Amino acid sequence: MTPQRAVLLVRISYRKPEDDDEQATDEGARRRREFSKGIGRQEEDGRALAARLGWNVVKVIPEDDTSAFKRRKIKLPDGSTALRTVRPGFRAALEGLASGEYDGLIADDLDRVARDPRDLEDLIDVVESRRPRIPVESVTGSLRLANDADITMARIMCAVANKSSRDTARRVTRKHEELAAEGKPPGGGYRGYGFSAVGHEPIEEEAKILREIAARILGDWDGWTNEERERLDPELGESLHSIAAGLQRRSVPTVTGARWTDRSVRSVISKPSVAGLREYRGEVVGKAVWDAIVPQERWEQVRARLAGRNRTVDLRLQRWLTGVLRCSQCSHMLMGWQGNNGPRYWCAKPNGGCGKIAIKASLAEGEIERQVLELLGQEGVLQRLRTVADTEVTDDVRAELAEDEAQLKVMAGMFARREITFPEYREGRSIIEKRIKESRALLTARTPRVLRRLLGAEDVAAGWSALTAVDKREIVLALIPGYVVMPHDRSAGNRFDPGRLVPVEA
Ligand SMILES: [Zn+2]
Repeated sequence: MTPQRAVLLVRISYRKPEDDDEQATDEGARRRREFSKGIGRQEEDGRALAARLGWNVVKVIPEDDTSAFKRRKIKLPDGSTALRTVRPGFRAALEGLASGEYDGLIADDLDRVARDPRDLEDLIDVVESRRPRIPVESVTGSLRLANDADITMARIMCAVANKSSRDTARRVTRKHEELAAEGKPPGGGYRGYGFSAVGHEPIEEEAKILREIAARILGDWDGWTNEERERLDPELGESLHSIAAGLQRRSVPTVTGARWTDRSVRSVISKPSVAGLREYRGEVVGKAVWDAIVPQERWEQVRARLAGRNRTVDLRLQRWLTGVLRCSQCSHMLMGWQGNNGPRYWCAKPNGGCGKIAIKASLAEGEIERQVLELLGQEGVLQRLRTVADTEVTDDVRAELAEDEAQLKVMAGMFARREITFPEYREGRSIIEKRIKESRALLTARTPRVLRRLLGAEDVAAGWSALTAVDKREIVLALIPGYVVMPHDRSAGNRFDPGRLVPVEA
C-alpha cells in the first residue's frame, strides 16, 4: 500500500560549525542561517525520496530540538501518560499516524525520528497498530520498521545514536559544559548572593546570612528570642515572609539593593551554589570547585522543606483538611478560613462555594485525626499504606525500568546470536544500564517521604503528630478519598456531631 497522506518530519538542529571561534559574529544570525539551511535540505531530501517511492506528502512537520533532553509527563496515542522527551512535532506526527490522518512517515535519519529509545518504542507501537504496518522510510535508509528484524535493529541503533547525539550536544556547548563539569563558576556579569562576581569567592557577611536563613527555615536558629522560639513550631520553621521582614528590619543588604521578600529569601537559599554544587541548565551536575556555605545535606533539608511549603500560604496558618472536606450542599471543597470564632473550614463564597456549610477547624481536625489513628491501629492498614508509598508517583519510573530491563535482555540475546558486535553490545548496554541506575535512584527518592517517615516510626501516633499539615493531608488522602460535611443540626444544640463528617467511599 503506497501512502497517499504521508507526513514528513524534519528536525531543526542548531548546529554550529566546528570552527565556531573563527568568526565570532552575531550568534542569533548564525543560528537563523543554520536553521533555514537545516530544514531546507532535509525537506528537499525527504520530498525527493517520497517522489522516488511514489508517496504523496501532505504535511511537513518541523521540530525544534533545543529541548531534546528535557523529560516531561505527556499523553501517549493510546491515552495513557508517561515520561518522555518533550517533542511536540514528533508527538503530533505520531498522533496523526495513530488516528489515520497520515498513512506513512518519512524522516531524514533514524536519530531525527527517535533519539530517545522511548520515542522509538512509541513509534513502533503506532506502526504495529495497523495491518499492514504503517510504512516508515528515511532518507539515509537507517530507519526501517517493516518487520521484526528491522525493529530490533532500529532499537540497537537508536540506543547507540542516543549516546552520540548527547555527545554532539555536549560539543555544541563545550565551553559552558566543561566549566560546569569541572565545577567552575559560569562567568558572566552578575553575581549570586553569597559570592563575588570575580572569582566566585564566598563573601563572609553574606554567607552568614545564608546560614542564618537555612537555620530559620529548619527551625534551629540560635538568634530567636525565647518568646519568638516559643511561638515557632520547630517542625515548620519560620516562614519566608517573616524571615524577609527580619532581614529587612536589620537593613541587611541584598545584591541589587531591592527589599528582601519571601521570594528573594527562597531564591538565594535555593541556589545549589550555596551547597557547593555546580548547576548547569537548571540541573545539578556535580560538586563545584568552591566550598559549600551551607553543608549539602543541610541545604537539601532546606530544599525539601521549601518544596513542602505552599508558595504563598504560611504553613502555620494552613489547615491540613483543606482539600479533604467537601460541601454536602454544592460539593465544593471546603477551605481553611479565619472565622469570628476561630479557624474553620468553610464552603467559601469568595471561592465560588455556596457559603452554607462550615465546620469548626479544631473539631473536624480532632475527629479525623482520631479516625486516622484508629485506622492506623488496625491490622492491614499499614500494609495498604506501604502499597501506596510503593505505587503513587513511581509508576512511570517503574514502567521505564521494566522497559529498560527488557531491552537489556533483547540486546544480550542479539549479542549471543552474533547479530551485533561486542562493541555495539557494550555501548548499548552501558547506555541502558546508566538509565536503569537513574531510575532506581529516582524510585527511592520519590517514594513519598512522608509515608516512609510515618511507617518507620515506632509509635505511629507520635509519628503522626510530628507531621506537617501537608504531610497529614497526604496521609489522610492515602487512607480515605475524602469527607462530605453535612449541615449542622440545630436541634442538637451546640454539641459537635462527628456524624457530620461522612467518609467518601473509595
Ligand atoms: Zn457549598
